Amino acid sequence: MTQIPIHKLMTQHVELLSPATPLHSVAHAMQSKRHSCVVLGEDKIPAGIITERDLVSILGRILDEPELANEPAANFMSTPPCTVDDKQTLFDALVISRADGVRHLPVVNNSGKLVGLITQTDLAQAHFQVIEEQQHVIERAIHKRTEQLVAANAELQSLSMEDGLLHIGNRRAMEVDMEHTHARAVRYNQTYTTVLLDVDFFKAYNDHYGHMAGDDALKQTASIVKSAIRKSDRVYRYGGEELLLLLPDTGPDGGAILTQRILKALQDTAITHCKSPYGVITMSAGIANHDPEQEASATDWSAVVHAADQRLYQAKEAGRNRVA
Ligand code: GH3
Ligand code: MG
Ligand code: MG
Repeated sequence: MTQIPIHKLMTQHVELLSPATPLHSVAHAMQSKRHSCVVLGEDKIPAGIITERDLVSILGRILDEPELANEPAANFMSTPPCTVDDKQTLFDALVISRADGVRHLPVVNNSGKLVGLITQTDLAQAHFQVIEEQQHVIERAIHKRTEQLVAANAELQSLSMEDGLLHIGNRRAMEVDMEHTHARAVRYNQTYTTVLLDVDFFKAYNDHYGHMAGDDALKQTASIVKSAIRKSDRVYRYGGEELLLLLPDTGPDGGAILTQRILKALQDTAITHCKSPYGVITMSAGIANHDPEQEASATDWSAVVHAADQRLYQAKEAGRNRVA
């Protein structure tokens, strides 16, 4: 912005009078046209300048000697004038006007002919524009940065392996872990057990206590499950109010014992649920095991999860708060 060329700021309405013009005519021209200065010269080449300030300082002499007003303006002008080239920039003009202490800068072309004038007011206005432009630059930078942050946040979320509410593994992480665990089990003839857990009558809980209370109850439930399992076991949020346990190197009996323990721990925690026949929050669970010894062992992990889901359904049908 400080690179704005001078010709964009300057006023082109600038008076060039002959240096032979009597001083009173110069004063009259300035007063009638409301110009704050007059440039004097011949053939468009500036030779000097008379400004309002100059006139005020000459005034004292004229009051003593009134005929001075008839003398040629050349006798009173500041010469040589401090000019700027029309190819120069606002920045140049600011520096020059400050360095030379002048408020009027005649602008000349490359032949030295007068093409315009820059006043202190032009410079001040341009300077304000520079400041505004700087603010815009900063605002644009902040805006761009904010957009980048939002994008980065979205990317971070997509890279996240954790469920934001329950602070356990999320569905995507679960799929990767299941795929990996299943492949390993097949390759090394290992067993693993999957448990699907689902909170009972949870819609009724939300409807009665509100969604926020529902979130809190879910968080408590997840942390009970987390603290019940071994380090090598994993818990994921399968969806909504459903959790998936992945128990490597664990057979169906071991899985059932652990699950019973979890259901009992939840019931003992006694999170009041007046809309449940149990009076407290409970869960139902379906267990499925991958057994490499069995002929009909699952070909992929989703078949194991599907089997657990079917057992979960049976547990619900049988009255909930139980393992199938
Ligand atoms: P069932 O005993 O058969 O499982 O009944 P249910 O009411 O638990 O099952 P249903 O599938 O009808 O409703 C599940 C409810 O869980 C509805 C849904 O709004 C709620 N839910 C799922 N995720 C969240 C969550 O993150 N926060 C809260 N507050 N509620 C959730
Ligand atoms: Mg459900
Ligand atoms: Mg449910």
